Amino acid sequence: MRGAPGGPRVLLRRLREVMAEPVSAQDRLDRIVVLIAANMVAEVCSVYVMRTDGTLELYATEGLKREAVHLTTMSSGEGLVGLIAREAEPLALSDAQVHPSYSYKPETGEEIYHAFLGVPILRAGNTLGVLVVQNKTHRVYHEEEIEALQITAMIIAEMIASGELQALARPGADIAIRRSFHQRGVALADGVGLGHVVLHEPRVVVKDLIAENIEGEVKRLDDAIAEMRADIDRLLERGDVAHHGEHRDVLETVRMFANDKGWIRRIREAVTTGLTAEAAVERIQSDTRAKILRQTDPYLRERLHDLEDLADRLLHVLAGAKRGAAREDLPDNAILVARSMGPAALLDYDRGRLRGLVLEEGGPSSHIAIVARALGIPAVSRVEGIAGLVEAGDAIIVDGGVGDVQIRPAPDIEAAYAEKARLRARRQEQYRSLRGIPAITRDGTAITLQLNAGLLVDMPNIVDTGASGIGLFRTELQFMVSERMPSTSEQQTLYQQVLIEAGGAPVTFRTLDIGGDKILPYMQAAEEENPALGWRAIRIGLDRPGLLRSQLRALLKASSGYHLRIMFPMVATVEEFLRAKSMVGREQAYLRKYGHPEPESVSLGVMVEVPSLLFQLDEIASHADFLSVGSNDLLQFLFAADRDNKQVSDRFDPLSAPALRALRAIADAAARHGCPVTLCGEIGGRPLEAMALIGIGYRAFSMTPASIGPVKAMLLELNVTELANTMSTLLGSSEKGSLRPALAAFAAAHGLPVQ
Ligand code: PEP
Ligand code: MG
Repeated sequence: MRGAPGGPRVLLRRLREVMAEPVSAQDRLDRIVVLIAANMVAEVCSVYVMRTDGTLELYATEGLKREAVHLTTMSSGEGLVGLIAREAEPLALSDAQVHPSYSYKPETGEEIYHAFLGVPILRAGNTLGVLVVQNKTHRVYHEEEIEALQITAMIIAEMIASGELQALARPGADIAIRRSFHQRGVALADGVGLGHVVLHEPRVVVKDLIAENIEGEVKRLDDAIAEMRADIDRLLERGDVAHHGEHRDVLETVRMFANDKGWIRRIREAVTTGLTAEAAVERIQSDTRAKILRQTDPYLRERLHDLEDLADRLLHVLAGAKRGAAREDLPDNAILVARSMGPAALLDYDRGRLRGLVLEEGGPSSHIAIVARALGIPAVSRVEGIAGLVEAGDAIIVDGGVGDVQIRPAPDIEAAYAEKARLRARRQEQYRSLRGIPAITRDGTAITLQLNAGLLVDMPNIVDTGASGIGLFRTELQFMVSERMPSTSEQQTLYQQVLIEAGGAPVTFRTLDIGGDKILPYMQAAEEENPALGWRAIRIGLDRPGLLRSQLRALLKASSGYHLRIMFPMVATVEEFLRAKSMVGREQAYLRKYGHPEPESVSLGVMVEVPSLLFQLDEIASHADFLSVGSNDLLQFLFAADRDNKQVSDRFDPLSAPALRALRAIADAAARHGCPVTLCGEIGGRPLEAMALIGIGYRAFSMTPASIGPVKAMLLELNVTELANTMSTLLGSSEKGSLRPALAAFAAAHGLPVQ
């Protein structure tokens, strides 16, 4: 540092002494500003600390009027100090007074100073305050001086983060580090979770900021960089990176940055000024994170994220810590926070201790969302920058129903959510008390309630809900959460395990329903204009019989001694079903020929989810052993309304005459042919819709576990004969709109719980 007595090393050493002195927080801060001013040959040094409301308060000064301390404030963006806080960038001016953002605070007496250098006080990318030096002359601050002041700001960031300065805050003017805030993301999995932050990739906490032996630190840094590069090379060479949750392209980018001379030089420079290697890496990382928070270009953001990831790796090497070590010592009420996470990683955690999941990336149909829902973990994603904004151990609340996340909530907010969680738990408890009661209506009609499932973790739900089996096992989920194509024997193992865990209850396996929005990362997907109407499900199965045959073989082998139920998705013609059926026959013949034990019996069914089947109902019902109505797809195709497009998905009510007439036609045809029919779409899990479906002849449903209780509570109060008459009148009438109000009125008049 030019002109500085002793340079930054001396300053850092002196600061370390001050940090260790047994003085009050205000005294310490006062001594620090004096030291910095002297070291930088500046007449003024001031520290502004950010309060929870975003204003910056003058906490200490050397050079400005002392009376201004704790009195002068700037709102966010106001004046040069506010500008630095908002932009999270240093600002060096030889004449501050001509800058358009300059705003004069008379109580400080700063009108005599011209040169101005301010840097943000950053921690984990968050601005905690601003550190400023000023000179009377029109001097130019050099690059090294700016760097030195930024390093000094780290020490103050530590003081703020430690909570030491909070004691100086006036009531109602708390310091921002402890501020509570709220973010809205995208709801992934329903439920309310209260707990404490566990970072999926824990940050290394850097305690020693100031180096004792600079040459030693430089060597530690160089060794760590070499080790990190070797680690990355090893990972890439092993070729199975995807299997370890590391994606090759991410690693390739990280490797590129790891050899970036500019990045390494900046860290090394920070070490030579007197920081420990860890503190130097953290300093560069904090800058990067602050840039991410302000960057809107998605490509640049992604690159900055890669840089941040690289700094994180380097910190772990330096600290000798393993990345992703959070799985051990999980607290009882852990809420996982991560930038992104793979499904396998989530399954590695102890479910009993997880209360929620918050992510920066991942949509509602992502694999992690599927797994979170299967595990019943409230989850929210697309929460901007969350992994950098929270600290391990922070109190946090996840509301997976609406997508809200509350960080360090105030006591009243926490109490409100705790009440919401209690209410939910009480309702769940009431439903649980129904699980042993047979699902029979008031007038004696038995209704079959089964579960939709797709992973092993779903299986305990049979016992928990009192469901009578699995009405839809979506086999594609195993393929979707896997990093590569599961082999026949891996599939067989899963199916065997499913049958064992079902404990004799029936399981209906649906063959692979991939394509459309269900993409397998390891399978080259053809570009399609309309994937929902494209090459998917049984169409792939029939065109590429290898895949379907391998699955059928796995199912047949897994089911020796069991009754095997298989159904085929997206069947559009009877002929498709007959071809699939003959493939099963061929596989059975093959297994018989080689003496493999066979299932006790095999039933083959059809998903009714393509409207063309509505006009082949008699034929399909006479060839199939059972039918299962996939109302999610059937209704989207019937109304030509994408089920995942919010703008159109709720536009057409399933409780309207066209939908209900179509669904009734299926139930009628099934009854004519003595062909059992189940409905496994989402509507079967909603009490009012389930009521209407019972009214048009449905007696079996398959649904998500959380729906079993509410649907059962409704049907236990139901009188089917009365309802059937009402339904037939409603569907025979010329009512053009939704029948929902009429059905809700029926439910209300008969005291049916349908909310
Ligand atoms: C359906 O389409 O209704 C169904 C149950 O299958 P999926 O939601 O898996 O398409
Ligand atoms: Mg479907």
